[in-house]
Amino acid sequence: NRQLVLASRPQGAPTADNFRLEQHPIPEAAEGEVLLRTVYLSLDPYMRGRMSDAPSYAAPVQINEVMTGGAVSKVVASRHPNFQEGDWVLGTTGWQDYSVMPGDKVQKLADHIANHPSLALGVLGMPGFTAYMGLLDIGNPQPGETVVVAAATGPVGSMVGQIAKLKGCRAVGIAGGEEKCRYALEQFGFDACIDHRADDFEAQLKAACPDGIDVYYENVGGKVFDAVMPLLNSKARIPVCGVVAQYNATGLPDGPDRLPQLAGLILRKRLRMQGFIIFDDYGHRYPEFATQMGEWFKAGKINFREDITDGLENAPQALIGLLEGKNFGKVVVRVGDD
Ligand code: NDP
Repeated sequence: NRQLVLASRPQGAPTADNFRLEQHPIPEAAEGEVLLRTVYLSLDPYMRGRMSDAPSYAAPVQINEVMTGGAVSKVVASRHPNFQEGDWVLGTTGWQDYSVMPGDKVQKLADHIANHPSLALGVLGMPGFTAYMGLLDIGNPQPGETVVVAAATGPVGSMVGQIAKLKGCRAVGIAGGEEKCRYALEQFGFDACIDHRADDFEAQLKAACPDGIDVYYENVGGKVFDAVMPLLNSKARIPVCGVVAQYNATGLPDGPDRLPQLAGLILRKRLRMQGFIIFDDYGHRYPEFATQMGEWFKAGKINFREDITDGLENAPQALIGLLEGKNFGKVVVRVGDD
């Protein structure tokens, strides 16, 4: 059983040295447990936080401990009445080939997901749920309003754009590079998509939002937020989902303290900014999401893009790339055959 463990804590961007590949015997399931073979491992930006022991909403991975992560697996052996060999399940099983889990800690995939199991890690799973709740519950988008989201071709951003369109909004994406922007327009239905690396990014964003911004779904922070701030309308809503541009930062950004400016803006424009941690805050609403997203998906209303890396041993490099925007779509590692 190959396992990727956290070898050391990164300073700034993670490097390959922060991980170590180990070999262990395949574990055995006890009564009430299932033995799982990992097929698709999800890589997500939050994993950078778990590599660090800075205070956070979740406990860090310990040194020498298997890296945490959600995965879709096949049941190899079951000692739990609800599962049979060959079932597809979703669980937080970590960066390893095999895992043993209590049966009540894993979920069987619904039939429409089992046809494309990796989607349980993307639009039909945690990132899709994050987009859905953050946009609809905190963003509260109304028909005709302008919704802006960065990381627009990732699983969260692409779903924010698609749900915004389903709700009758103008959806403006921000992404890294022309190819991603073209994809956002053609496949995800954004009305506009701006390359945050363009020299005139701010001017282009302004031109793409002629009526200002009513909902800014915050995925990245940094200079994207700076460009968004002057375009926010009165009573704009800002679901703060993530700030991936600063996950590798080792200190505060250069330049003047902008907190007073932001506080003044929040006051004058009566902005509402709210952070959320998806399962902590909305776990009880997962069934609602699963039903609605399942309907949209079966009706052919949802597009998705996956960025699949083969081989557990390549997971560290894929995570490092994700934090730099090298991914193009939901990052999934194919650990074994399906
Ligand atoms: P993505 O697959 O979209 O990957 C992250 C993307 O962020 C990169 O591809 C890149 O896209 C963009 N990015 C990286 N660095 C920068 C930068 N310096 N400036 C601007 N953009 C950058 O990730 P997800 O869809 O999985 O996650 C999106 C966000 O949602 C993250 O912030 C994540 O932490 C957050 N999240 C929060 C949850 C919660 O419970 N609050 C749950 C799940 C996700 P590009 O090249 O297009 O710029």
